[in-house]
Amino acid sequence: MKVNGRERGVLMRQKKIPMRMCAGCGEMKPKKDLVRVVKAPDSKDESGKVLEKGAVSLDLTGRKPGRGVYVCRSIECLKAARKAKKFERAFSGQGAPVKIPDEVYQKMEEEIGADG
Ligand SMILES: [Zn+2]
Repeated sequence: MKVNGRERGVLMRQKKIPMRMCAGCGEMKPKKDLVRVVKAPDSKDESGKVLEKGAVSLDLTGRKPGRGVYVCRSIECLKAARKAKKFERAFSGQGAPVKIPDEVYQKMEEEIGADG
């Protein structure tokens, strides 16, 4: 019996897997296979003046608040994203340009490397 792709797709039990794009290689991957790099919200006073910029860090639990960018659980992709300034660009969209210090990248590279 011939089963075409469409019928098969319907027959197969389909779970909706949330997909996200890796900022390093640009591939769409299931969210669970990616690591979130998050920028914590800036702390502001009542007038909205920024007192302290939110820190950028690796979110291995997926629970940190703030804006996130996804990369593969791979040091190569993290480095590629760093080189292309993907994180700075994504996080700068919120307002003032964001500069991510080398030590933050270094820490993220260590964490991503240690994890897998
Ligand atoms: Zn990737």
